[in-house]
Amino acid sequence: MLKVEHLEKTFYPHKNTRLTVLSDVSFQIADGEKLAMQGASGAGKSTIARILTGLETPDGGLVVLDGKPLWSDGKKKKYDRAEGRKIQMIFQSPYSSLDPMQKAGDAVREALIFSHAAKRGKEAREKTAELFDLVGLPVELADRRPFALSGGQAQRVAIARALALSPALLIADEATAMLDVMSQARIVGLLNELNEKLGLSVLYISHDGALLHSCADTVLHLENGILKKGSV
Ligand code: ADP
Ligand code: MG
Repeated sequence: MLKVEHLEKTFYPHKNTRLTVLSDVSFQIADGEKLAMQGASGAGKSTIARILTGLETPDGGLVVLDGKPLWSDGKKKKYDRAEGRKIQMIFQSPYSSLDPMQKAGDAVREALIFSHAAKRGKEAREKTAELFDLVGLPVELADRRPFALSGGQAQRVAIARALALSPALLIADEATAMLDVMSQARIVGLLNELNEKLGLSVLYISHDGALLHSCADTVLHLENGILKKGSV
């Protein structure tokens, strides 16, 4: 369902300096597949995730989702935001991806309303409760703001909010890096459960190869701008 071919990206961090982070990156993720991507810090993993979600423009290559290119061709490349919503991302720090002033339940409810998955009012409240249940959060936590939640709980809220947008693919970019080992395993367990229950595709991204081997059968390795299958 997602096909990435010959992706290229060069940054120009300073005058006369060029940094080619992606020189030829190709991979595919089938519907319901789990894939892991490993690479040292600075290898360009997040750049790939940002291109897939429309936050960074590729210099070359193709990103095709369900047969449709997400990035248009030509000099002025445009991202298909409506299609791109099928790809959602969770990040290292749920505290910085959630609004500190917004209650957990409201974050999920707003996403449901925004994506027309639920009408404002009763339906949105019910679906919010369902999503809390799905990610293993007691519904009583809906009234808490992010800083009154543990790291693992806050990450579950971020996952519930992503699910509210009905993604086909969820990218977890270092999503357990700031959690303790127990919470890490629980979040990976949850994502694997969602993969099985909902048929949600998951792309795990981390610098930690050992962790990734517990996440997915296939681990790709990003080095020198190229993505390869193989040992990490
Ligand atoms: P990773 O996620 O694998 O740690 P990133 O994709 O975040 O790596 O970054 C890859 C490299 O590209 C890093 O050296 C980073 O500093 C650089 N980089 C990322 N974004 C930009 C940008 N907008 N401008 C300049 N350099 C960037
Ligand atoms: Mg990164």
